[in-house]
This record gives sequence, structure tokens and C-alpha cells, in this order.
Amino acid sequence: MFWDKEKETLSGDSLEKLQLKRLKWTIKQTENIPFYKKLLNESKIKPDDIRKKEDIQKLPFTKKSDLQGGYPFGFFAVPKREIVRIHTTSGTTGKPTVVGYTRKDLDNWSELIARNMTMIGLTADDTFQNAVNYGLFTGGLGFHYGAEKIGMTVIPSGTGNTKRQIEMIDDFGVTAMHCTPSYAMHLSEVAESMGTDLPTFKTGMFGAEPWSENMRRTLEEKLGVTAYDSYGMSEIYGPGAAFECPERNGLHFWHDCYIIEIIDPETCEVLEPGQKGELVVTPLVKEAMPLLRYRTGDITMILDDECPCGRGAKIARLTGRSDDMLVIRGINVFPSQIEHVLRSIPEVGDQFMVYVDRINHLDEMTIDVEIKKEFFKGELCDLEKIQRKIIHSLKEILNLRTKVSLVEPGSLPRFEGKAKRVIDNRGDKF
Ligand SMILES: [Zn+2]
Repeated sequence: MFWDKEKETLSGDSLEKLQLKRLKWTIKQTENIPFYKKLLNESKIKPDDIRKKEDIQKLPFTKKSDLQGGYPFGFFAVPKREIVRIHTTSGTTGKPTVVGYTRKDLDNWSELIARNMTMIGLTADDTFQNAVNYGLFTGGLGFHYGAEKIGMTVIPSGTGNTKRQIEMIDDFGVTAMHCTPSYAMHLSEVAESMGTDLPTFKTGMFGAEPWSENMRRTLEEKLGVTAYDSYGMSEIYGPGAAFECPERNGLHFWHDCYIIEIIDPETCEVLEPGQKGELVVTPLVKEAMPLLRYRTGDITMILDDECPCGRGAKIARLTGRSDDMLVIRGINVFPSQIEHVLRSIPEVGDQFMVYVDRINHLDEMTIDVEIKKEFFKGELCDLEKIQRKIIHSLKEILNLRTKVSLVEPGSLPRFEGKAKRVIDNRGDKF
């Protein structure tokens, strides 16, 4: 029922025709927003100037700071009485962005979530535990309504009360769960401390923070699940804008609802498929808060290969946000790369923390790494060997020498929502 085969597998001219029609509608809708009205007037662009897909490049970009400048309701394109819900971004950098939804927007959004879940084989027979924050964060209500739309049995467990969450998996016969990868790791650790194995379930949907292929392997091993990656952000509805199909080789962006581009973040030049850069998204069906060429800050590339599932518009799994990227002595480092290296080393435990300092004008990166219990109690010379191995593996991948301290299992902070694994003590980062 939620496999919209016609739309999901559109390609060539018919896809372009639909996208252009919706893009023109979106441009018209943005004319209700003073910020865009001014920009479009200045550049003298009219919806009818959009004749082919490349014409999108005539449109201006929208940056996160533009949205922050419109706080709170400056980017709403409909009268307030048509707004039926508000979410906000977390606002870790400056003012949060307020996102509004009309009733139609909420319907569209849950339809996309329902498509995602249908794509990976979930049905009304599944029992779904939604272990994410249900507040202003879009992950809670977004997944909730999509799952209800399919008719799944939804458990709105939220985060916290982890022991109870573990019991529920077993007692209620949970078959699918949505949470952050960090919280999934935490669940398995708490189950271990309770002296039980985490009850297994079939499907894990993980998002809201970048996670590596090695993390996928660890999660699948510990939780007994098949793990799928979900991508989205509040500005473009929320999670579910892109999702992995059963091939799990890239995420399909719903091409009837979004046009995606990849740009060089420095020069803003549009890049070809296969070239890595910043993801730019133009939503095509948003009524309350249409956006033109929104710069997400997320780093990925468009994949050009034909997916056996028949769907198009595929992006590679995310390396990280350009905001998360650390520049250490001129070298770009993403926390997800560090995670990928650490999870490939068998002696390494569940958590790590990265500290960046500037000592005598030089950037120094120190990583505290938890070691598995059985290795932590070993001989000192063995620990030194493990430490050398970690430093060596990090150097191979990051091309950077790091300091590594091995710490006791369970000693580093745990996260129920998005993990904060980097502490940057440099005052003037760039
Ligand atoms: Zn596919």
C-alpha cells in the first residue's frame, strides 16, 4: 500500500517533468516569504524561467543562518492559522530554527516515513518501539505517525528508563526499533549489566548522527538486527527524506519530493555524481515552509549506479556534517572516521572521546578509548601494544599522529540522544 511504485521508480523525462512542475509551484510558494520575495525580485527570476532541471542553478541558496535570521516565524509561507504543528532544531549553534507544518505537510511527511518502512519490509504485523526523544525533535513524532499510517503497533517509548525499554522489547514482542546508534549501543551495554542478553528483534532504524559501516557491523552483532540508515533534518520535514533500501548501498532520496545537488562548500560550484561535497536540498511539496537550495552542511555524494530495487536519487552514507569536521593541523577529520577505525580493532570497547587542544600553537588531538574488560585487566606491556596498534591504525586512515589513552570500560559518558564525542578546547578554531 505504501510502495508507490510509479513515483518511486520514475526516471528520465517523466521525473524531470514532475520535478519541474513542483519546483515552479515551490518558487511561487516562497514568494509569500519576504526573504525570498526580495531575493527573487533582485535576481528577476520568475517560476517560468525554470524550463529544464539545470535551471535550478539560477536560484539563490538558503543558509542555516538565513533561517536563524527569520526567527521565529519569518519563513512561514502560509497564515499562522494553517500551521498545525511546530518543531525546532536543537539550536546548538545560535538560535534554533522554527519549522512549521500544515496538515498536508504532516500527511506528506508520514507518507514518506511509511514508504521508508515499507521499502524494508515492515508491515501492520510489526511491533515498533520508537526510542527517540518525542519533544521538539522531529525523530519522535515523525517516525511515530509514519508507523501508525502503515498500521504497525507503535510503542512511543521515548528515551530513558533503559531497563524498562529492554524489558519491553521482550514483553511486547518488538520486531523493529528506531533510535540513535549511540542509544542502541547503550541498550546492549545495560542489558549486559543486567546479566541478560538484549532480546533480539528484526529491524533497527538508526539516524540523527553519522555512523560508520563498522558501527553497523557491531550493532548487528550485538542486537541481532538488520540495521538501516535514515537521513533527514527538521528543515526538510525531518527524518525519512532519504533511507536505505534492502540493498543497503546508499540512501534513496525521495525524488518526487526533493531535488538534490552536491556543491563544493567553498566555491558553491555544482559537482558531478561521484564527487564528494555539501548536500543541497530543495523540497518540492512543502507548503508551510518551502525552501530553495537549502545548504544542509552535510557531506556526501550522489551515486550514479542503478539500484536493483528500481528507485533513483541515491546518496552515499554521510561522512559527517561540515559543522562537525575538525581541522587538525590543516587536515580534515570527521569523528565518524575515528569511530570507523576504532571499531575495526577487536580490543576496543564501546566508547571513545576526542579532545582537541592547542599546545604551543600546535593542534593536538587526544583520544580516550575504552578497552574491553578482558584486555583492560591484562599485562601492562599488552596494553602498550594495543595503544600502539590504535595510534598506528588512526595514522593510516587520518594521516595524523594522535595521542591515545586507554581507559577503563564504562568510564566514559553514555548518550541517550545524539552523542557528543568531541571536546574542542581551541578558542579560535579557524
Ligand atoms: Zn535501492
